[in-house]
Amino acid sequence: MAKATTTIKQVLNYGPEHAAWFAANQTLFNQVCAFYFDVIQAHVKILELSNKEALTALEKLTHITQRNPAPVMPLDEVAEDIPAMFRRAAIHAALGSARSFFSHLARWQKAKEKAEAKGKKFHERPPVPPRTWNKSASLYAGMWKERSDSSIVLKVWTGICWSWMKVRITGRELPIDAELGSPQLIRKGNQWYLHTPIERQFKSSGTIEKQVTTNKQTKICSVDLNINENIAVCTIRTVEGSILATTFIHGGQRVNGFRKKLLGRIARNRHKTGILAENEQDNVHLWNNIRHVDEQVAHLVSNRIVQFAKQHEATVLVFEHLGNLKPTKGKYSKRGNEKRAFWMKGRIFRYARYKAYHAGILTSRVNPRNTSRECARCHSLVARYAEGQPAEGYTYGAPLVACHQCGMRGNADRNASLVIGQRLTQRYQKQEKPPTPLLAKREPKGSGVGIPQDAKSRNRPSLQSARHGDSNEHGTGAPHRRQKLSATEGVKVVGKPSAHLTYPCRKA
Ligand SMILES: [Zn+2]
Repeated sequence: MAKATTTIKQVLNYGPEHAAWFAANQTLFNQVCAFYFDVIQAHVKILELSNKEALTALEKLTHITQRNPAPVMPLDEVAEDIPAMFRRAAIHAALGSARSFFSHLARWQKAKEKAEAKGKKFHERPPVPPRTWNKSASLYAGMWKERSDSSIVLKVWTGICWSWMKVRITGRELPIDAELGSPQLIRKGNQWYLHTPIERQFKSSGTIEKQVTTNKQTKICSVDLNINENIAVCTIRTVEGSILATTFIHGGQRVNGFRKKLLGRIARNRHKTGILAENEQDNVHLWNNIRHVDEQVAHLVSNRIVQFAKQHEATVLVFEHLGNLKPTKGKYSKRGNEKRAFWMKGRIFRYARYKAYHAGILTSRVNPRNTSRECARCHSLVARYAEGQPAEGYTYGAPLVACHQCGMRGNADRNASLVIGQRLTQRYQKQEKPPTPLLAKREPKGSGVGIPQDAKSRNRPSLQSARHGDSNEHGTGAPHRRQKLSATEGVKVVGKPSAHLTYPCRKA
């Protein structure tokens, strides 16, 4: 069984005076945290204990009871009448910070000793304990009650006394039968929110290695992310090599155009004002627009990738590593736009990874080297070209590929996504067998088994040359911006037409 945690964020609706209560409550929480951090610093041995034992030890050191009338560092000197659950939440928060601080300190000391042993100078500054505390108060059981979809009753420090208050909640509903964690009171700007972690258990199908090596029918969804029109191209492929489905997620041009327009506007505004004020965001509204669109698109695209994988029951999702952003020349708007498109790829990957995880799908990445230059069928180098151009050479970013070795022709992004999927399976297969038997193993597939007619016709990368003229017919993913051309112009017929009908095809 595997576990996934999500946070449900809900807006709290309260009167204006209650915002001050939440603030007072948080201030007190941080005072208690700081107090316990000091206690731990005075008794560092506590950190060797488990959290549970440490809690007991810290309470013994600070909490007055009949059995323990004179603790070493009484909490009452800082704040009186702290509810037990409030205290425990603060202790755990302080323990977390202390563990982090002391492990940083230990690492620093080690590095220092190492440097000094070598006779080198060591300039790194030691980590410092937190000077200010800004933790959000966790509400352990006992600090809240009567939770429904629309309201909750919370126990908060008002600044004068402890008080139960009923607050209305709006926002996402809690899923039924989810395992709730302790909610937290979170301040963002002037608004207070209730964040509730929920834990979900699901059956996992084992590590990617196990899935790929033990089950030949494991379905892998491989994704090629781009900064052009096809933001993402996904293919579903079994480990043994049958290709089951492809989808193209379009819209890159629109996002790029929109972003470039706004960046151009920012550049012009900056030019007009001449100087940029320090520590002050310029063109706030325009920047917000850009950010929101990027965020929105990343969520939409990642969601569609995961939906597609789920729909075809894929259990592994694979991307390529992003590599480095190659700086380009050009206007501010062009450079800025490409940078943001590149960042968005990273964001789509991160979002897809957690969305996939929640659907029980594991994500992996493969080496990006030459994924677009390699033929998915025979692994020789391909020619990449735009429609209407001869199928030779390599035009970076062009939409079509042709392989002169095996006659494969098709969409360049789709070819890349197939190569990405193959790299994942190769990673695990290589260790067991040399590459030649692998090819032999795939041979029976070439003789036309196992691919549903539908998948065959929709998804083969190879197209008969005549179809190249008809731009909207090309695969499932004809970018609409391609110009219409006469059917024969610039298209060479390579390979036997019969070779196009099945995929993957025999090498020889
Ligand atoms: Zn080829």
